[in-house]
Amino acid sequence: MVSEHKITDLPDLISDLSPEDRTLANRIFDVSTTTGRLDPPEAMHAWIEKSFGSVDHVTAQRIVKVTNRVTLEGTLFNELRASRPLDTGVSLDLDREIAATEGDPFCRPREATPADVFGRVEGDHATTASNVAKYDGFHGVVIFDDHNPLHLTPEKVAGYVSVGLEWGRKVLEDDPEARYPFLMWNCLWRAGGSIIHGHAQVTATRGSHYPKVERLRRNASAYKREHGSDYFEDLHSIHASLGLDIPLEGVHTFASLSPIKEKELIVIGEDTGDASLGHAVGALLQGYVEDLGVSAFNVAFYMPPLGSTQEDWSDFPTVVYIVDRGDPANRTSDIGAMELYAASVVASDPFRVAEALRPCSRGGLPG
Ligand SMILES: [Zn+2]
Repeated sequence: MVSEHKITDLPDLISDLSPEDRTLANRIFDVSTTTGRLDPPEAMHAWIEKSFGSVDHVTAQRIVKVTNRVTLEGTLFNELRASRPLDTGVSLDLDREIAATEGDPFCRPREATPADVFGRVEGDHATTASNVAKYDGFHGVVIFDDHNPLHLTPEKVAGYVSVGLEWGRKVLEDDPEARYPFLMWNCLWRAGGSIIHGHAQVTATRGSHYPKVERLRRNASAYKREHGSDYFEDLHSIHASLGLDIPLEGVHTFASLSPIKEKELIVIGEDTGDASLGHAVGALLQGYVEDLGVSAFNVAFYMPPLGSTQEDWSDFPTVVYIVDRGDPANRTSDIGAMELYAASVVASDPFRVAEALRPCSRGGLPG
């Protein structure tokens, strides 16, 4: 049904929605298209055909710009960029490279890593350590039992998340001011991970939440004041009406229309402690690795604070972001000045991402 949908046809897809869905889509997203043109010399034609399929694909390139009016996050999609040649550097056998680092300190966390002042949280699939060089006053590592971070399952990931959340509660007992938790996972060096052994990280901060989390709270709160409806519900509803949702038990999941980088997924859960959230994230990551061939990714959990605060978090769900960081063998960074300071440039089509991951809603989940 949605298999023919392409992100570059987004303006038409929105026009075809029901009036209510179209109004909602236009309320949150500003979408425009443009065509990039060029005039290649005859001598380049053979190379262009080999690299991009046909000269026509290159001489007129359709680009769609999607801006979230509420958050001012924005993305430029050009499918042609997905097939452009890259200097990918040395090729490597990733499994072998990961295995070669077995026996690292994270393989024996109790002897080789420090504990936090309140001790360790030990779960079925992970144990915490205190991070040696800290981002913030409280900064822990959720060290997975598995050395290879890509040997993941929904059950293991749910275990990693629940160990991370328990760490946040231990912090709160130690320091009731450190009520703003953050859980993140930088998988492999390409995604900013400095240690190959599977691990996520947890921090807790004081005073106010991290600025990007606080900004989303303020944006959603302003949206509710202006439109009288829930931003996160509406965001999911737009993605679902376009066929970008990935049905999973207990959460709302979709491939983002304004991804920060390749193949971004957003998972919205009611309660961070709900096991279905960790399972859903695990099912999606398993789909990432097994169906989409992703090996380097970031995961970030935006969570409301664990204690009472002056600002209002009552409507803020748990929002999880998952993003592909590209091939670990590639020497070119996926993030440049455009992404840091202007808008994200993305090649992967969210419709293809949702389509590829929808089968993971069939298995791997309890109930
Ligand atoms: Zn290890």
